[in-house]
Amino acid sequence: MSTLRLEIVTPERIVYEEDVNMVVAHGVAGQLGILPHHVPLITPLKIAALKVKKGNSEELIAVHGGFMEVRKDKVVVLAEAAEQVSDIDVSRANLAKERAEQRLAGKDDHYDHKRAEMALQRAVTRIQTHGK
Ligand code: ATP
Repeated sequence: MSTLRLEIVTPERIVYEEDVNMVVAHGVAGQLGILPHHVPLITPLKIAALKVKKGNSEELIAVHGGFMEVRKDKVVVLAEAAEQVSDIDVSRANLAKERAEQRLAGKDDHYDHKRAEMALQRAVTRIQTHGK
C-alpha cells in the first residue's frame, strides 16, 4: 500500500511525523480524505480531530485549527496546538470546558465570547479525541 508522509507541527514541537496511508482532515469547507498523490492544496482547518489510517490501524489527533498543505507525497499541518491521544489530559480539558461554558453563560460582556467559544471547541475536541 502506498504511503504519504504526515507532519503535524506546532510552534512548540513536532507532534507527529510518520508515513501513513490516508489522512482525513476537517477543512473549513468540509471533510477532506487525502490519499498519496492527491492534488496539491492548502486549506485552513477547523478545530477537530484529524484521522490517520496506517495499515489496519486508525488513530486520532486533536488539531486546533491552523493550516494543512497537501503535496504529492507529503501532508504538512501547522497548528497553534495539536495533541495525540496519549498527550491529552482529560481532567484539564474538562476544567477548560466548564470555564468556557461559564463564560458563555455569563450575562456581562466582561469576557470575549468568540474567545470562549474557541476555548470550548478546543476542550470538546480534546475530550472527544481522547474518548474515541
Ligand atoms: P487550557 O485553558 O487548559 O490551557 P487551552 O485550550 O487554552 O486550554 P491551548 O492554548 O490550546 O490551551 O494550548 C496551550 C498548550 O497546552 C498547547 O501546547 C496544548 O497542546 C496544551 N494543552 C492544552 N490543553 C491540553 C490538554 N487538555 N491536554 C494536553 N495538552 C493540552
